[in-house]
Amino acid sequence: MRRLLLPRLSGRGPRGGVALTFDDGPHPEATPAVLDVLDRLGWTATFFVLGAQVRRHPGVAAEVVAAGHELALHGDEHRYLIGRGPRAAGDDLHRAYDTVAGLTGQPPLWWRPPYGVLSGPALAAARGLGVRPLLWSAWGRDWRAAATGESVVDDLYRGEVDGGMLLLHDSDITSAPGAWRSAVAALPLLAERLGAAGVEVRTVGEHVRG
Ligand SMILES: [Zn+2]
Repeated sequence: MRRLLLPRLSGRGPRGGVALTFDDGPHPEATPAVLDVLDRLGWTATFFVLGAQVRRHPGVAAEVVAAGHELALHGDEHRYLIGRGPRAAGDDLHRAYDTVAGLTGQPPLWWRPPYGVLSGPALAAARGLGVRPLLWSAWGRDWRAAATGESVVDDLYRGEVDGGMLLLHDSDITSAPGAWRSAVAALPLLAERLGAAGVEVRTVGEHVRG
């Protein structure tokens, strides 16, 4: 499925850079652990948050913003959009939008639907809100109980890394409990590989605007 995606949807940007993204947060344990490593590495990233999680953990979401990272939309609740009525899909995105815009005072610009599944009504709602749908070009499969820092980096490099958009998670609400620790462990290993190749880590905004 990923190979059929349009380059625009997979978030391709210029080579020499990569957008680092985290889905499903904020999470009271995982997000601070991710923020800590990002701070040590001097990286800024984009967090595709869930509106419901932001309302549950507003202080954690505020920490993400205060650390200079970008917030984007993953939805309000983590549910497939297909099979929900047109009204429900649009309402979900609107709720997430209002929650994130209310927290940051800025309109969110990007949206990645749960499971990467786009639906017509949700796309129409996104267009109405002025948020651009984006998926990914490489994922770390960090939701698995068996994932480790090494396996996450290996999985990322099975996709398109240089010039692409990397998908990790700062939450375990849809994964094996504590699986996010594999993403945290992967970041310093990823830094070695990206650094050796001269690839810079960016937010989505920095990356897709080139
Ligand atoms: Zn998700």
